[in-house]
Amino acid sequence: MAKNCAGCKAAVTGREFMKCCICCLVYDLHCANVSSKRFYLMSIENKQSWKCLECRSSEPKAYNTNNPIRPGTVASNDAANVTLRDGNKNKNRRKSSDDLPSLEHSVMSNDTLRAIVREELHEMFQTFLKKSLNEIVSEAKISSLESALKFCNSQFTDLKKFFEDNVSTISLLQKQNETFKLSVNDL
Ligand SMILES: [Zn+2]
Ligand SMILES: [Zn+2]
Repeated sequence: MAKNCAGCKAAVTGREFMKCCICCLVYDLHCANVSSKRFYLMSIENKQSWKCLECRSSEPKAYNTNNPIRPGTVASNDAANVTLRDGNKNKNRRKSSDDLPSLEHSVMSNDTLRAIVREELHEMFQTFLKKSLNEIVSEAKISSLESALKFCNSQFTDLKKFFEDNVSTISLLQKQNETFKLSVNDL
């Protein structure tokens, strides 16, 4: 019966082919990556337990993650990143070291430095002012509310005091009235 290689789809003839024990697909030796020398040296057990590349790579997940190829690629990526980062660092270092003498060079132009500082301070001050203004506004709102509450409270306290005073005055007047009444009766 005519078989076709699962890899290259070419017809597989003769005995030189490998059959995957998982998917049962047939591969010619080239696609199975098995040399004819190895094929003839292979034991029957080895041939029967042979797995195609696809089944080998997709079969056990644990094996796949432990596959030395994967960490290797990751490591190489890391190494690339490290070298990249190092490269950037070196670049930055070089840049700053390049900048330093130029800065030292520009030290003599104090006006430029002063202008830069002034600009920087101006910007800082502006943002600070804006921020603090906002804070003051919101605080003012709060404080006005607070003072309003305080005012109401004091008003209420005054009213309460007034009322209490009146009550005591009334009771005093009542007492006086009583004594007055008694004295009238005595008359
Ligand atoms: Zn093939
Ligand atoms: Zn297979």
